[in-house]
Amino acid sequence: MSKAMQHAGTVPSLSETPRLFPSPRYPAVAVSGEDALYPIHRVFCVGRNYADHAAEMGVEVDREAPFYFLKDAQAIVDSGSTIAYPPGTANYHYEMELVIALGRSVFRATAEEAERAIFGYAAGLDMTRRDLQLDARAKQRPWDLGKNFEASAVMALITPASEVVKIGPQRISLLVNGDVRQDAHLSDLVWSPVEIVVHLSRFYHLAPGDLIYTGTPAGVGAVAAGDVIRGEIDGLAPVELVIGAAE
Ligand code: MN
Repeated sequence: MSKAMQHAGTVPSLSETPRLFPSPRYPAVAVSGEDALYPIHRVFCVGRNYADHAAEMGVEVDREAPFYFLKDAQAIVDSGSTIAYPPGTANYHYEMELVIALGRSVFRATAEEAERAIFGYAAGLDMTRRDLQLDARAKQRPWDLGKNFEASAVMALITPASEVVKIGPQRISLLVNGDVRQDAHLSDLVWSPVEIVVHLSRFYHLAPGDLIYTGTPAGVGAVAAGDVIRGEIDGLAPVELVIGAAE
């Protein structure tokens, strides 16, 4: 391959020429046991990765391959935040998810390469404007309005993969104001973290800083201003969110 050839992961201009206005800053999240933060590059999300959740949405899991949507890195907010009830929706939902944080570049990864590329795991919330997502789905339009909006991805601190037991037996659960709404195990994942990284790396030059939200179990539901959300995965830091008033 010629040195001038750029792959799809190459940024067009990183020159130091002054910008017309300040460049957007990429967010970063804390890592357990580390002083340095983990900078976020891209946010991939897997759709329908638990059979029970697909069923409650009136669809089936596609067993041939996972599918994806993306959120902007700037949509990430820290666990413990209070975020305003978002505009344009009357059916704002939580989705509790295991988040994969990549620490190495991988392209067309083998299972072994995928495993090595996983830097760590975190508890996350894929906040969703369900009415807009379902309207888009019905009209066969993209999901962006329902999924990719400000503060729509919440994330707790990352635990290094070396400190996490093999993904499977961990309980994944979510409480709203102390009531359990989602309760499953990571062994219920249709596509495992390694399988997801192997598959996604056929389509993207995955890189350090890339996050993958791995889908939510059954029990999704609406929240309102004043609600307190807490999501837990055994062995990981919990993710917490408070819903504020609409702006
Ligand atoms: Mn989701």
